[in-house]
Amino acid sequence: MGRLFLVNLEGKMYSCKHCSTHLALPEDIISRSFHCKHGKAYLFNKVVNVTVGAKEDRMMMTGLHTVVDIFCVGCGSILGWKYEAAHEKNQKYKEGKFILERFKVAGPNGNYYWTSTDAHVAGSDPDDA
Ligand SMILES: [Zn+2]
Repeated sequence: MGRLFLVNLEGKMYSCKHCSTHLALPEDIISRSFHCKHGKAYLFNKVVNVTVGAKEDRMMMTGLHTVVDIFCVGCGSILGWKYEAAHEKNQKYKEGKFILERFKVAGPNGNYYWTSTDAHVAGSDPDDA
């Protein structure tokens, strides 16, 4: 029995760092400037292969939001959250959008392999995801 992906993404993508379930594409990133208590977080237009938890209201730096936590369908680990509703007018653009906490997902360069013409790779920046 192989693992069943609900949705297969192609090309560069973000995936669950525990079970490699495909989650989102870099072109669906709306903003990389979000922060969560563990560090960087990205706002995505679309995330696949996640289940959502119960709705709750959370007070954030930008005001009150109704959010649901999102979990990987493959392994059940928490990945971030989805904005169900924003109560401040200028935050409405986040409604229906997803946050992935950066340290919980493997980036598009996570399985990068160097073209082996040059052994000096130390100057490159694999974290530019
Ligand atoms: Zn997973």
